[in-house]
Amino acid sequence: MHAVFSGTRLRPAVELNFSFYAAHPVTGQPLREWIRDVPGRAWVPERKTWTVTALGDTPDKTLTDAGFTTVVGPDDEPMSLAEYTAPLVAVDPEHPGFLCVYPRLAGQFHAAPQLPSTAIWRAEETRWLVSLHDLPGGVPKEFTLSAEAAAALDAAHTTPTAPDPAQDQLLYDGTLDGLRGVPVTDLRNVDRATATAMSKLDITSVFDLLHHVPRRYIDRSNPALITTTSVGCKIAVLGTVDGVTSAKTRAGSMSKVTVRDTAGTAVFCTWFNAAWITHRFTKGDLVVLHGRLDTWTGKGGVEHFGMNNPLMDMVEATTAVMVPVYPASAKAEISTWALHRAGAEAVSRMGAISDTIPAQVLAERDLLDRTQAYTGIHLPTDPANAEAARRRLAYDELLGLQLTLRNRRDAEGPEGSVAVAHTPTKHLANQLISSLPFELTAAQRRVANEVARDMRAPTPMHRMIQGDVGSGKSMVIFISMLMAVECGHQGAIMVPTEILATQHHLEVTTRMAGLTKADGTPVRIALLTNKVTGPARREVLAGLAEGSIDIVIGTHALLAPVVTFSSLSLAVIDEQHRFGVEQRATLRQKGPDGRTPDMLVATATPIPRTAVMSIFGDLEHSVLDEMPPGRSPITTCSVEATGADCADDGALPWQLIREQVAAGHQAFVVCPMVSDSETKTAAAAENTAAALDDGALRGLRIGVAHGKQKADERTAVMAEFTAGQLDVLVATTVIEVGVNVPNATVMVITGAERFGLAQMHQMRGRVGRGQWPGHCVLVGTPKTADAAQRIDALCASTDGFALAEVDLRIRGWGTLLGASQAGAATELRVADILTDTDLVSWARSDAITIFEADPHLARRPGLRDEIRRAVGEDAAEWLTSA
Ligand code: ADP
Ligand code: MG
Repeated sequence: MHAVFSGTRLRPAVELNFSFYAAHPVTGQPLREWIRDVPGRAWVPERKTWTVTALGDTPDKTLTDAGFTTVVGPDDEPMSLAEYTAPLVAVDPEHPGFLCVYPRLAGQFHAAPQLPSTAIWRAEETRWLVSLHDLPGGVPKEFTLSAEAAAALDAAHTTPTAPDPAQDQLLYDGTLDGLRGVPVTDLRNVDRATATAMSKLDITSVFDLLHHVPRRYIDRSNPALITTTSVGCKIAVLGTVDGVTSAKTRAGSMSKVTVRDTAGTAVFCTWFNAAWITHRFTKGDLVVLHGRLDTWTGKGGVEHFGMNNPLMDMVEATTAVMVPVYPASAKAEISTWALHRAGAEAVSRMGAISDTIPAQVLAERDLLDRTQAYTGIHLPTDPANAEAARRRLAYDELLGLQLTLRNRRDAEGPEGSVAVAHTPTKHLANQLISSLPFELTAAQRRVANEVARDMRAPTPMHRMIQGDVGSGKSMVIFISMLMAVECGHQGAIMVPTEILATQHHLEVTTRMAGLTKADGTPVRIALLTNKVTGPARREVLAGLAEGSIDIVIGTHALLAPVVTFSSLSLAVIDEQHRFGVEQRATLRQKGPDGRTPDMLVATATPIPRTAVMSIFGDLEHSVLDEMPPGRSPITTCSVEATGADCADDGALPWQLIREQVAAGHQAFVVCPMVSDSETKTAAAAENTAAALDDGALRGLRIGVAHGKQKADERTAVMAEFTAGQLDVLVATTVIEVGVNVPNATVMVITGAERFGLAQMHQMRGRVGRGQWPGHCVLVGTPKTADAAQRIDALCASTDGFALAEVDLRIRGWGTLLGASQAGAATELRVADILTDTDLVSWARSDAITIFEADPHLARRPGLRDEIRRAVGEDAAEWLTSA
């Protein structure tokens, strides 16, 4: 058998023809199988022949061994392939300043390790472009160097324009912010088209580019392999495209690409309606593949690996150990590799960036300096280097966030603002505590003491109280209120809803009935909502202004300018999901004679500790980490909506309700919000109540509560339920907070897929308040993975803090951040507030130290300028008002 040389000098190839039955003379393997392991092969159907463009290190021997005794050259004479093995180096007039390296028969990967890492692989031209500057030591000696190429190389290395690293450096002032002024087009690797694509990712400057960090890396020293990955798991592998086909199906077009990982295992990848896939990729391309590994059993029981709709991105042959994978959208039409090339060039030409953190601090914490960090994130040497780089950038983000938050705190309670320095006598607080039918928990006592300490100080308190549903936050708030009243001042509690205000007011008046102040008069308590009108309202307003009312509970109505106080020294915002900065600021202005009232904020749902530190960095915080005794466990389970038909007596939730009602208990059935419409939601609740009344809960006393009812109508229903005159309360989320009916033992949440995790946890807290175990049934048909995760998490745990972490994981912490309104400087790209706990606390304590020593950052102009840029000039006014 002969092989036929069929290529050109630059792109050599051989044609192999063999019969179906031909076998390898040494191994006996059929040649049709042997050829599958030859790297650069292609089947040319019209000629029924194999064309091979890469044959490994010893092409002549490979062919002889396989039985191709001779290679026939263009002149029909036998020839040797040896001289076509070494990469050929030539000049190309189209690319001045570059040499072209043609890999030839030994293949792309043979040349790659010997080329500088800045070499550019042009797949469509099957050659490398290497800058003359990057070859100071010449080309590897085994390469075949054309005469012109040798001359060009000589010239480049003898002319005075030879690269001086200092001259090659990007032109900027050496600060990170300076790179905002360097357009990406200053980089050699960014041409106009690349720049346009980058702008779609909001990358226009080198600064932006440096902050567009890889999503992950592929570690080639320890590559993931298909065969060692469990089926069903996500995997990112490096591989070579081995075949591209497309097919039309009834549902649309299907693209199929076979990729072989570095061990040669094939994965069959499929995409629906993504024709661009077949256009963009061709055989031989090196790619990164990211997706979930599947298997199926094909003909003859052979197991195949596959991926549906994986992310596939082009990578160029490289010698780097760590291959970064950038978040690049297919829409922006930019490959991860183009981003990598630009990023790598940027870090290699940026020189040293000045650092805003003193070297000594970095050394103590084992953090990289900035230059190392940006280099390590874009061109890491190994996984540890990439992680160290990420940590430094994360620290910078977190510190920036903390400084911005401190700034905001400054704006809220300007430096030197004073509060009432309370001297609580405990005269009233002790009366309350001794009148309670229970003992305070150790956590309640501890937190009450933390609050008392803050209230004694002449500086304004900013404290957040965290605790799970039912941990007894209200009691701590009541005690704090009494400490203000003991000192002759007033307290205000603001809650988000009318219903809650009424309930709180009721609880406060009941709990505080009979308490007498030092002068022998009772503590006077008032309610102020928008429903309090006419003479009643005037009386409250007058009482607050002259000081005859000690404590007021209300809604946003409290914020109105007409509400003035004789001496408001403590303001509390309770049961808040969101902590409006403006609300706090408005309340703060209602303090006595220019002084700022102390401020307490109680969360409706727990927030993980590190999240509080990062996002509410301006608040001190106390945690009620102990539940009052006598709480009963709550068991939670979920059922599909089909398993909770209102007409089905046997359905689990209704059966459970009947059982519990028969045992003398009560139940809640919660209905979800319907398409943001209060009216539709109310109608849905009414319908559910009617259906249950007619169906599975026939004969039970059922009430309905929703937002469309008149306030007194709803209050009446709630009161009936509280008094035990109703067995079942069908309600909308109006019962989310505040309702306290210890006899209720069942909570059925319908449409569970539509509720947030925290919200469901909060609602579930309405049962298990008495001595009887609580039951919660989540009825829902989750359509998204997130919804299913929320439901599963609730079934698995009743710990509010643990659930809050799950919630943050699912939703990201953007929503929380929105709540803090911390502003633009707070985007965290690399920091993970749940796991970077050491960085979070360093950033917080460093921010405090920096501010205390140097409130306007006068001694750290670099840092000051960075923050000013990040938050915008207006927001950073504090920095200049020195
Ligand atoms: P939350 O933290 O959700 O606001 P609450 O303050 O409303 O919790 O307390 C829930 C219930 O627990 C209330 O009925 C309250 O009276 C009761 N409670 C508060 N502290 C204790 C305690 N130390 N021992 C027993 N019950 C308590
Ligand atoms: Mg509460």
